[in-house]
Amino acid sequence: MDDTEFGTHNKRGDYTPNEPARHAPLFAFPPRPLALLKWLPGYFLPWNVLWLATAAAWWAWIVPEKAAMTTLAWGWVLWLFAVNAIAVFLFYGALELHLYMRRAQGTRFKYNAKWPADHKSQAFLFQSQTLDGMIRAFGTGVPIWTAWEVLVLWAWANDVGPWVSLADNPWYLAAVWLVLPVIHEFHFFCIHRLIHTPFLYKWVHSVHHNSVNPSPWSSLSMHPVEHLLYFATAAYHFVIPSHPLLAIYQLHYAGFGAVVGHIGFDKVELSEDRAMESHAFIHYLHHKYFEVNYGDGLIPLDRWFGTFHDGSKDGEARMNERYRRRKAKANARAST
Ligand SMILES: [Zn+2]
Ligand SMILES: [Zn+2]
Repeated sequence: MDDTEFGTHNKRGDYTPNEPARHAPLFAFPPRPLALLKWLPGYFLPWNVLWLATAAAWWAWIVPEKAAMTTLAWGWVLWLFAVNAIAVFLFYGALELHLYMRRAQGTRFKYNAKWPADHKSQAFLFQSQTLDGMIRAFGTGVPIWTAWEVLVLWAWANDVGPWVSLADNPWYLAAVWLVLPVIHEFHFFCIHRLIHTPFLYKWVHSVHHNSVNPSPWSSLSMHPVEHLLYFATAAYHFVIPSHPLLAIYQLHYAGFGAVVGHIGFDKVELSEDRAMESHAFIHYLHHKYFEVNYGDGLIPLDRWFGTFHDGSKDGEARMNERYRRRKAKANARAST
């Protein structure tokens, strides 16, 4: 596919889409019903529907009988861990294999023309972004994700929490499902701002930012404290009347959905003339510039707080102006 129809490569080969990044029109004021209608299909397809399908599959085939989960026992806990680990390996691995090992679409639509595997860095375990990401994903990421899942299921099995049944409340639970990505976005923005404070950045979040040029395994390349906070979206289901299937969806949205922001390509080619939007641009800019785009664009929090970068030249100028003003303020404070 000819990616220059949709964007440009600079002299280093890095790709920038022509269309600046935008927030979803969900919170636009005044409301923009037409824009909302245009945006809605991309909200559901493919990812949100896929995570609902995987959560339903987990609920139907993976989650043990309720009676077995009333007590914590290694058998069912390790079973859930094994399934989650295999699923991560297959899903992340398939994207890594297709886009980064086989390099099936070359650098077409690739934000950064360099390949992480070609550049060893001391910042990573074994100097490899991929190995570092895999070790952290399986070492602490999937275990902490599974721990949240176990907590939710154990609580449900013991009637701890405001659980409601699927059969009696299908429409209510469908409405909750619609709101869960917004909750994820709100939660992610809050914890992300928190771990960008100097102390937590140095000891926790800098691990994730070693991937300046993210690839699929960068997704869960995090410090365990960040894993703990990141997957804490499961805890909202102890507050909102919900169902464990939706709590599993929430965890899949975080765990599998993390890849969506770290894929490194603006579009993934499906055939000679068809490609799928990745929605990775906003978070790619966060990895590139560090102090912009703390959220993923569903709620315009970055616009409200003045930290939005849309990837355009104007966006860059606004970011530089913000950094300049902050520096001037710090200098003024230092000299008084
Ligand atoms: Zn990231
Ligand atoms: Zn960050």
